[in-house]
Amino acid sequence: MGAYDKLKENVLIANKALVKAGLVILTWGNASEIDRERGVVAIKPSGVDYDRMSINDIVVTDLDGNVVDGELKASSDLGTHLEIYKNFKNAGGVVHTHSTFATAWAQAGQSIVCSGTTHADYFYGAVPVTRSLKEDETGDYEKNTGKIIAELFEKEKIDSVSVPAVLVKGHAPFTWGENAAKAVENAVVLEQVAKTAFITRGILSFSPELEKHIADKHYFRKHGENAYYGQKKEKRQ
Ligand SMILES: [Zn+2]
Repeated sequence: MGAYDKLKENVLIANKALVKAGLVILTWGNASEIDRERGVVAIKPSGVDYDRMSINDIVVTDLDGNVVDGELKASSDLGTHLEIYKNFKNAGGVVHTHSTFATAWAQAGQSIVCSGTTHADYFYGAVPVTRSLKEDETGDYEKNTGKIIAELFEKEKIDSVSVPAVLVKGHAPFTWGENAAKAVENAVVLEQVAKTAFITRGILSFSPELEKHIADKHYFRKHGENAYYGQKKEKRQ
């Protein structure tokens, strides 16, 4: 057993789950998980086929992106993952995909308004969209992508725990959660929310906002002190 085996296994399972959920085309998707006590992040290797990916292929880096375990090159999106971990202290896992519907909203530069209870169960308020990177920000592209995500949440006073997802304008979504598995679940739900929001808009030509009392009811029955959804042990942080 290697020192980081458990962390690497979680990340391997999360990456394979993304494929199984149909969120990944070719190798466009990556999941990572952080061990905050040890200050390390395990992430998918760059450009490796998911079918053949094994625990030994998972790359472990420190918070500056220096490899501490693994032979392969880390996912090229590592820099964005690291910025998310640095800025969102409750994030334990991060996922990036180019899933079709969420990516379409990102390309349109449109946030996804909460129009229904599926959205309200997972995201408390709209899933926001970042600004575009400026020309002089493309040098350190992945890191700066993370920085504009953090900037958006700070500027708009969005809570990264109750809204664990973002659309990067012209690019695609990132989601996070208390661990890699939860970040995957949020990516799956985001894609479903993006899909139904698109269809809803097709019917109405605008996005109707769910009544606040219903959105509150759905979010808080799953999250926070008075949550009662699911089994007791599932209580979320
Ligand atoms: Zn991407």
